[in-house]
Amino acid sequence: MSDQPAGPRVGPNAEIVVDVAAIRHNVRVLRELTGVPIIAVVKADGYGHGMLAAARAVREAGAEWIGVATVDEALQLRDAGYSGPLLCWLTLPGTDYERPVAEGVDLSPYSVSELDAIAAAAEAAGRRARVQIKVDTGLNRGGASRSTWAELFARAREGERVGSWKVTGLWSHFACSDEPDHPANDRQEQAFRAAVALAGDCGLHPELLHLSNSAAAVLRPSARFGAVRCGIAVYGLDPAPGRTPDLGLVPAMTVRTRLALVKDLVPGDAVSYGQRWVADRPTTVGLVPVGYGDGVPRHAFHPGGGAEVAVRGKRRPIRGSVCMDQFMVDLGGDVAEAGDEVVLFGAGGDVPTAQDWAEACGTINYEIVTRIGGRMTRTYVDSAGPAPEAGP
Ligand SMILES: *Cc1c(COP(=O)(O)O)cnc(C)c1O
Repeated sequence: MSDQPAGPRVGPNAEIVVDVAAIRHNVRVLRELTGVPIIAVVKADGYGHGMLAAARAVREAGAEWIGVATVDEALQLRDAGYSGPLLCWLTLPGTDYERPVAEGVDLSPYSVSELDAIAAAAEAAGRRARVQIKVDTGLNRGGASRSTWAELFARAREGERVGSWKVTGLWSHFACSDEPDHPANDRQEQAFRAAVALAGDCGLHPELLHLSNSAAAVLRPSARFGAVRCGIAVYGLDPAPGRTPDLGLVPAMTVRTRLALVKDLVPGDAVSYGQRWVADRPTTVGLVPVGYGDGVPRHAFHPGGGAEVAVRGKRRPIRGSVCMDQFMVDLGGDVAEAGDEVVLFGAGGDVPTAQDWAEACGTINYEIVTRIGGRMTRTYVDSAGPAPEAGP
């Protein structure tokens, strides 16, 4: 085997089609609804939509900021030419901050030791860093624990005084924003206000305060502060299923392939590994040539039900275990042929949505779109204009 291409490829079995016009539309909806700047979150390869294309689309639609998890993601955006406001928030001890500092990336320190490392990087880069302090207000994940706020703010103030950085922001993250009546939301918002007050007492006056992700941006006007960090809603998926008012968000991702084979079954025929589904009537089934190796959840079939796909404009249930490369769908007695288009999920209507898949698989829409991929290719369309380029 060699890593050199031996000849032309024949193309993938399936493709992810991303409509960048939908992303732009969703950003505009969110911007209008919230009335504050949008930090559009494009981490994890734009929730599976492609980070660079997502970044370009959100910028075109007027998102003021871009947010990512890792420094590596931030630097990829810089390398691709995006020079605008950029926030990242998840680093490890030993991270080299010199390049992100030199590139003007806003960092999110949680601790004094991180601030010390950023100070050294600012010195080495010969440039003031930009830091947005992240406080933990009850998620108990990233961010500075409340008991450390005073010490952290004091160090931040000192660094600002000596010119190591400018404290550009202060922020936190909700645990239960998709449950608007959950008491944790009020507690976290109060804790955040307390952090802002304490920072002020310590001489810090960050310009940008932010607390809300998509669900809170939509459902909790009191927590919009100076900006909102929107991820899932940017891609057109419901941030709080069953609780979000209809905002007209449009899912940007469609996953499609074609039937590889159609065959007839008689009653008693069992399908796929473990024979976990048995035909109780004569039927036809179709072979869909993607599986968990492409991010199709194996949970998309279970004896109690499972997800559906659209074939010839009709929703068809998955039958039998999802395999690494393939799964079967029940076509009933209807006419279908090998080669017919199969849409796993898309914008809704005749085709299922990522939300439908999430419910069928016992997970959240975020996981469905972020994990899909594997051997699929991603193509971009612009339903509002000419075919787009992938770049920020
Ligand atoms: C991923 C993430 C977001 C975006 O959340 P959505 O629910 O997708 O809007 C916002 N803030 C932080 C800290 C995140 O990690």
